[in-house]
Amino acid sequence: MRFDIFTIFPGMFSGPFNESILRRAVDRELLDIALHDIRDHGVGRHRAVDDTPYGGGAGMVMAAPPLFASIEATLGNALTETPVILMSPSGERFTQQIARELSNLPRIALVCGRYEGVDQRVRDHLITRELSIGDYVLTGGELAAAVIVDVVARLIPGVIDAESLEEESFSDGLLEYPHYTRPASFRGWEVPSVLLSGHHAEIARWRHEQALQLTRRRRPDLLDDHSDSS
Ligand code: SAH
Repeated sequence: MRFDIFTIFPGMFSGPFNESILRRAVDRELLDIALHDIRDHGVGRHRAVDDTPYGGGAGMVMAAPPLFASIEATLGNALTETPVILMSPSGERFTQQIARELSNLPRIALVCGRYEGVDQRVRDHLITRELSIGDYVLTGGELAAAVIVDVVARLIPGVIDAESLEEESFSDGLLEYPHYTRPASFRGWEVPSVLLSGHHAEIARWRHEQALQLTRRRRPDLLDDHSDSS
């Protein structure tokens, strides 16, 4: 799967993409991440990408011409079939469900806003979807784009062990059950004995019960659409 990321701070991605699972996925060519500096299409000697808002008010606005030029030059004919997704606090809330949907696509473009955001004509005529990673305001879309790449990438077949995906939080509408590893006794705190019993069916029942209880306590909203919530 290919991600094209449009940003004025491509350097912000070197940390998250150059370590661990994402790095390995890129090295194994399961994942292709291309960073595009919008400033390459900036205007004038200073390669400006922003300007003051019409109508006045605080801050700057990312101008339409550099964004259109950068995205059109990069995607070319692929523009018609590639989702061009703007990182935006007023977008649809990003969820595991949306990540699953995106992980089935061959290519997506992520556009990172800065300042007060982007000229509305970019949203109206170039962007096909807007995603928010939560109800708070970041200084820019870069961290949001990194979150989306991270969440989507681990769903691509081969990036991580398929079994880990089956039982984790949200996969079946529940939060995940608790995990334990050695030692069996630590400072007097014991691992639940059922996990040491070797009875697979009982372990599975215990885990499901724990997942249900945790979800009921922390996220009762998730149980509304969970079939087995009794
Ligand atoms: N003035 C804007 C906020 C701009 S923040 C407003 O009130 O809506 C600057 C940029 O950060 C945005 O253009 C967007 O790309 C990114 N951003 C900020 N918060 C975000 C969030 N919760 N999810 C996704 N992107 C976000």
